[in-house]
Amino acid sequence: MALNVEEMSIFCKKKGFVFQSAEIYGGLSGFFDYGPLGVELKNNLKQSWYKYIITNRPNVVAQDGSIITNPKVWKASGHLDNFADLVLTTKKTKTKIRADHFIEEKLKISAEGLKAIDINKLVKENNLTYNGEDFEEVKDFNLMFSTHVGPAADSSNVAYLRPETCQSIFPNFKLIAEVCRQKLPFGIGQIGKAFRNEISPRDFLFRQREFEQMELEFFTHPEETTCVDLVNKHKQLKFQFFSAKAQDANSDAVEMASISELLEKGLLSEWHAYWLAEMYFWYVEELGIKKENIRVREHTKKELSHYSSATFDIDYKFPFGFKEVMGIADRGQYDLQQHMKHSSQKLELFDDASGKSVVPRVIEPSQGLDRLFLAILFEAYEDDKERGNIVLHLNQKLSPYYCAIFPLVKNKPELLAKAEEIYDSLRKKFPCYFDVSGSVGRRYARADEIGVRYCITVDFESLEDNAVTLRDRETTDQERISLEKLQARLFELR
Ligand code: ATP
Repeated sequence: MALNVEEMSIFCKKKGFVFQSAEIYGGLSGFFDYGPLGVELKNNLKQSWYKYIITNRPNVVAQDGSIITNPKVWKASGHLDNFADLVLTTKKTKTKIRADHFIEEKLKISAEGLKAIDINKLVKENNLTYNGEDFEEVKDFNLMFSTHVGPAADSSNVAYLRPETCQSIFPNFKLIAEVCRQKLPFGIGQIGKAFRNEISPRDFLFRQREFEQMELEFFTHPEETTCVDLVNKHKQLKFQFFSAKAQDANSDAVEMASISELLEKGLLSEWHAYWLAEMYFWYVEELGIKKENIRVREHTKKELSHYSSATFDIDYKFPFGFKEVMGIADRGQYDLQQHMKHSSQKLELFDDASGKSVVPRVIEPSQGLDRLFLAILFEAYEDDKERGNIVLHLNQKLSPYYCAIFPLVKNKPELLAKAEEIYDSLRKKFPCYFDVSGSVGRRYARADEIGVRYCITVDFESLEDNAVTLRDRETTDQERISLEKLQARLFELR
């Protein structure tokens, strides 16, 4: 990784991964369209998450909630009252800036969790201005997009685009537990769009106004503090750790820590530790992200969200610094209790062992899909000077294409027909494409640039020996392989 985020956005556009939304009209800040290759990569990331979180576990099921729902949900969840960032407005031109980011950039301190009173004080003490303009008092700005449901447009029918996918799981939790006959502990996962009217969208896909989340709400018995699934393998797991203590002391010291050590210090519960370890494991083992490029960051007490008693982020080392790509929060009983209060419905489950109804506690691993997509691209990108082209070292299960089929020349009909026949049979089994334009070297380079793992070249000899050349993106090694064995070999390598 050597390129910055602006260069990455240009690369993504050039290769068909991501474009500005409606670019011909100048785009719209904070909105992006995924192109053909972006859709493939994003779908592969979703599938990886879905398999890891839902398909592979007997006690996790899925739901697909609506984007707009009864606004009472957002009153109960606390979003209507609390889901806000602080905004600084300049006195003359009324320019609006996100206050914590501005403070961080100007004063080089962490502004996570600062209150309005702290920001006003810092602005005054340091005579902070923007383009020579003074600021008004800092104000709260609610990040939810609002709309109207039905033909009238007045305060009686205001509704909101969801700012997180997970919230619609809580009102459904009892219904789903009952219809799926789930007992505690169990989880409900969901993938979908979320919307936040961010004050200043920036860093390409990192901070958008429309994005996608993959979230799991995992419900546990409130008195069950032991997680039997927190196996030794997980307890020994070591990672770079940025503690709340270090952050409170304004230090950027990152230490190596293990799950056992965090548990011994009482920083989190066993179930919370289990999901932190599971998600870290997914990053490293399934997605192939290098350990040195991720760290676990503990939220400081003053920055914790209104619903959380403890949160740990997984941060990725972007060119613009280590930044959150996922958050794993202990939401306790907050959401279910709030929905019980506001709906007057009992969101409890009957526990056979104690013969009592209980309100479960909740652990939430919340993954932003677009930030992960961006991290995966930075992780994979290499400007390979020796080869003279860019190589995307994507995990082959995530690559938009697993293989590509090249006839050596396009003006020999028998050769073209043979290559097309191979393409027809392979594309039903693997994501692949057909390319006839330019030299084979040029075609290899183009394939490397979009992360294709194997290139299959059909040459003059193929007409005689019924074999093709299989070239591996990672090593550039080539092997000659007969057509009878090709499919089996590709399955074996997958
Ligand atoms: P930040 O502090 O960076 O605004 P957050 O802590 O508010 O993020 P969460 O509410 O924990 O984020 O959301 C869970 C995940 O959703 C994040 O880890 C991130 O991957 C993703 N996400 C949140 N906001 C955005 C956004 N504006 N654009 C893209 N992804 C986002």
